[in-house]
Amino acid sequence: MPFFDLLVNACEQNPGRIAVRCDNEASSFSEHFSRISRAAHLLRMTLGLASNDRFAILSRNSVDYLELIHASLLGAAIVVPLNVRSSEPELAAVLRDAGCRALFFSDEFCGVAQRLKDVTEVEHIIQIGDSQPSYTAYRGLIQEATEWLPKRPDGSDTAFIMYTSGTTGRAKGVVIEHAAMANDIYKTGIVTTLTQGYTFLLHAPLFHIASIRGFGLAPATGSTVVLLPRFDPPRIIQEIKAHDVNTTSFIASTVRNMLELPGFHGTALPSLTTIGYGSAPMHPAVLRRLMSAFPKAEFVNWYGMTETCGHVSVLNGLDHKLGGRRLTSCGRAMPGIGVRVIDEAGLPVSHGTVGEITVSGDNLMRGYWNQPPLKTDHTGTSWYPTGDAGYLDDDGYLHLVGRIRDMIITGGENVAPGEVEAALCNHPEVHQAVVFGMDDLKWGEAVYACVSAPANAQISSDQLRAHCRTQLAGYKVPKTISIQHNPFPMSGSNKIDRNLVKSLYTQSYP
Ligand code: ATP
Ligand code: MG
Repeated sequence: MPFFDLLVNACEQNPGRIAVRCDNEASSFSEHFSRISRAAHLLRMTLGLASNDRFAILSRNSVDYLELIHASLLGAAIVVPLNVRSSEPELAAVLRDAGCRALFFSDEFCGVAQRLKDVTEVEHIIQIGDSQPSYTAYRGLIQEATEWLPKRPDGSDTAFIMYTSGTTGRAKGVVIEHAAMANDIYKTGIVTTLTQGYTFLLHAPLFHIASIRGFGLAPATGSTVVLLPRFDPPRIIQEIKAHDVNTTSFIASTVRNMLELPGFHGTALPSLTTIGYGSAPMHPAVLRRLMSAFPKAEFVNWYGMTETCGHVSVLNGLDHKLGGRRLTSCGRAMPGIGVRVIDEAGLPVSHGTVGEITVSGDNLMRGYWNQPPLKTDHTGTSWYPTGDAGYLDDDGYLHLVGRIRDMIITGGENVAPGEVEAALCNHPEVHQAVVFGMDDLKWGEAVYACVSAPANAQISSDQLRAHCRTQLAGYKVPKTISIQHNPFPMSGSNKIDRNLVKSLYTQSYP
C-alpha cells in the first residue's frame, strides 16, 4: 500500500484536527489536503512535470516545504530535498545528477537559485516559505491552482530521491519507492506506542531521512506536526510547552545542547512522553543525563540510514527501563529486517565478532540513482552493505563501533574509534571526541584524538590518557590528545564533521 492511502485516509478521518503548525500558521487536515492537492496541480499542470520527473527544494523547514513533499508522496512528481549547507558546486552536482526540472527555494537562497538555474538543466525556479502575509510567487501560484489528485501510485513507483548526508564522501542519491516508505511507517508503528493522534515536534531539517519519515508517520496516524524552521534549543522548549507536544527526536550529537538549558526536564515538560534519538552515536553519559532529566518518559534509539528509509534496528522503551549493557547498543532489528555481520570475504561472522553490518528488508532503497541496482543473494534477497562496523551480541542486540573506513589498524590490532571516543566522553570535562588514525612509521597507523572541553576545563592530555588507560587496552589509548575549547564543526545533518576535525588537526600539527 503506498503512502497515498495513508495520507488520504488520515485526511478524510480527521478533517478538523490540526495537521501542521509552523510559526503563526496552522492548517487542519482538510486544509492541508486541499493545499497539497493544489501543489500537485501546480507541479503537473502549471509546470508540466510528469509523475517521474524530479524537482528539488532548497529551503529551511516551512509549511510550503511540507506540502510539496506530501504532493510528491501522493505521486505528483519526485521530490529531491537539498542540504542547505551544501556548497553551490555540490548543489549543482546533485541537480544535474538527479536531472531536476524545477527548483523551489526560500528567500535566503534567491541568488543561489538563479545561479544554479544558469548552470544546470533546471527550467523553473520558484520562491516558497515566506511566513509573512506578503504574496510570494509560490503562494500566488498555489491560490490559482485547482484541487487535483494524481493517479494513485504503485508501490514500486519512486516516492523521493534523497541524497545521503555525505559524512563519508560525496552524497549519493537514494531512490525510495512508495511501498518502502509505507513499510517503514508500519514498522515504526509496531515497535512504539506512537499510534493515533499524537503531537510531534520536528526541528531536524526536512532534507534528512529522519524528518521525512517523521512527517510520513505523523499524518498517516492522524497526528499533528509542529514544525520548526531549524534546530533552535530554547524554541524547542517553548513549542513543547505551547502545544503540549508528546514526542520529538534528537540527533544524538545535539542532546547535550538541550541538556544545558534549565527548562529541559520532565517536570517542566510533562506532555513530552516519548523521546527518540539516533542518526549518530549517543554517548552513554549523555543518555544517562537525559533519562534522569525525564524519569517518566519512554526513550527510543533508532538506528538506520537513508538507504533503509531510516530504520534498521530499535532500542525501545522497555530496553531503556531494563538498562545494562544493552543501553549502549542500537537495539534489535525491526520486524522484517535482516541484519548480518560479515567479514572482509563477505562471510557471516559469529556473534560478538566485529564486522560490516549488512541489511535487507522491504524498506530498503531500490538502489542509488544512476548506479547499478543492489546485489542479490541466491534467494533473490537484496543486501545493503552499510559501511558501519559492529557486532551482534547473543541476545540479538546490535552494537555499533564506528564506520568500517574509520577503523584504525595499529601494530596489527584493530581499534574502533567509537569505543575510544566513548571512553574519552566518560570523562566529566569532555564534551565531544573524535578519534582517528594517522600514518606512523612504527605502528603503521597511530591512534590520535581531538576532544572539545568547556573553556574553564582543567585537564591535560596526559590526564586524559591516564583516564583512557583505566578503561581501554594500552594499544587503544591515543598517543596524542589535542584539547580544543570550541564545539566541533557539524555537517548539514548535525553530525560531527569528522573529516573536517581531522583535517583541522592535521593542519595545526603538520
Ligand atoms: P554518507 O552515506 O553520505 O557518508 P551518512 O551515512 O552519514 O552519509 P545518513 O544516511 O544520514 O548518511 O546516516 C546513516 C548513518 O548514521 C549510519 O550508517 C550510521 O553510521 C549513523 N547512525 C544512524 N543511526 C545511528 C544510531 N542510532 N547510533 C549511531 N549511529 C547511527
Ligand atoms: Mg551512509
